[in-house]
Amino acid sequence: MKFKLDKLASNVKAIRQDFPILDREVNGKRLAYLDNAASSQRPVSVINKFNEIYSNNYSNVHRGVHTLSMESTELYENVRKKIANFINVDDQNEIIYTKGTTESINIVARGWAKYNLKKGDKVVLSEVEHHANLVPWFMLRDEIGIIIEFIPVLDDFNLDLDSLEKIIDKKTRLVAVSQISNSLGTIIPLNQIIETAHSNGALVLIDAAQSAPHQKIDVKDLGADFLVFSAHKLLGPNGVGVLWAKMDILEQFKPFIGGGDMISKVTFENATWNEIPYRFEAGTPNITGVIAFGEAIDYLNNNNYVELCQYAHYLSEFARKELSALSYIEILGPSDPSLRSSLFSFDIKGVHPHDVAQILDSAGVAIRAGHHCAQPTLNRFGFSSTARASFYLYNDMNDVEQFIESIDLVEKRFL
Ligand code: PMP
Repeated sequence: MKFKLDKLASNVKAIRQDFPILDREVNGKRLAYLDNAASSQRPVSVINKFNEIYSNNYSNVHRGVHTLSMESTELYENVRKKIANFINVDDQNEIIYTKGTTESINIVARGWAKYNLKKGDKVVLSEVEHHANLVPWFMLRDEIGIIIEFIPVLDDFNLDLDSLEKIIDKKTRLVAVSQISNSLGTIIPLNQIIETAHSNGALVLIDAAQSAPHQKIDVKDLGADFLVFSAHKLLGPNGVGVLWAKMDILEQFKPFIGGGDMISKVTFENATWNEIPYRFEAGTPNITGVIAFGEAIDYLNNNNYVELCQYAHYLSEFARKELSALSYIEILGPSDPSLRSSLFSFDIKGVHPHDVAQILDSAGVAIRAGHHCAQPTLNRFGFSSTARASFYLYNDMNDVEQFIESIDLVEKRFL
């Protein structure tokens, strides 16, 4: 174990060189970036890719017969295959490029559920969902009269799996849940949820925004029907996301956004649709962003990201243990470490999380404070906001030490 940790620490030390932003100072202090659940940083290969494409290959995609357009189209389309491999999908045409997790879920709600669900059909969510997996369903409910029910979260921060049989029934058409809660850090055991959904004839959407950066996602193993995530949380650019669904399900979608590229033929009266995936990708897409995301996937694969993320988890657990020894800190999240991810929310009694984050910022430590776009989840536990530390594959023990020392500053200042 010790040997493995030493090896991982030295691998982390090596890859930190690839992230220029980690060298900068914040408020005169070394930067300890612990806001990775909100967005990760990028390695120089991803940053340079933008320069390379704009300097050499940039043109619009799918349109031109000229060399630049063919080059950029090829680079852009190659990433579809990379993403398919990344989540173990055989048919790259099942990968839809989107702006991010939020847009992906909205496309499922507006493009699939709106036309395939009817009044009285049930969509089951959980009580730990991000607003991105709540609000689109509320909007659809108000429009077509679906019923929304929730798998409850228990006082121990885990979902109440005993309730599944009661909540997921024959009226349920979709179960949409995250794999890791972004506010509590809970890892959701998906197998039982997926099994119960499928045995009732419901489809399952997995929000992998927090899980895809840290673990191997294998949609075949998972048995999911839809999977969504965002590039910016796994070293890629912001403004790029993924929607994956099985082809027979994608064929049930109606296009959600109309315009160029998504059509086969347009007359003054009407239009017919292009093939999938282009049918769902109207307009000029985020060409450079997608290509740079391909570079991020290469970086993750070439650096054995799953192993590096084990170190991030070790650091998160280490920091958590240190903080839990302090009487004035309450840490949210499951007591079973195997159900905890590499992030945790905490509350310093009597100090507003924004004040905590500000003091930490003055010490160069970046954490998130607020409701984490999970207001109902935090309210359920009696909070309107918390502080959240989240670790990723370039974090090191110096970050942890700096973080813990900066908590002392909060104590000195406020307690
Ligand atoms: N779901 C979860 C679990 C998330 O953590 C996030 C990002 N915080 C989202 C959805 C939304 O992702 P994006 O803002 O990239 O669309």
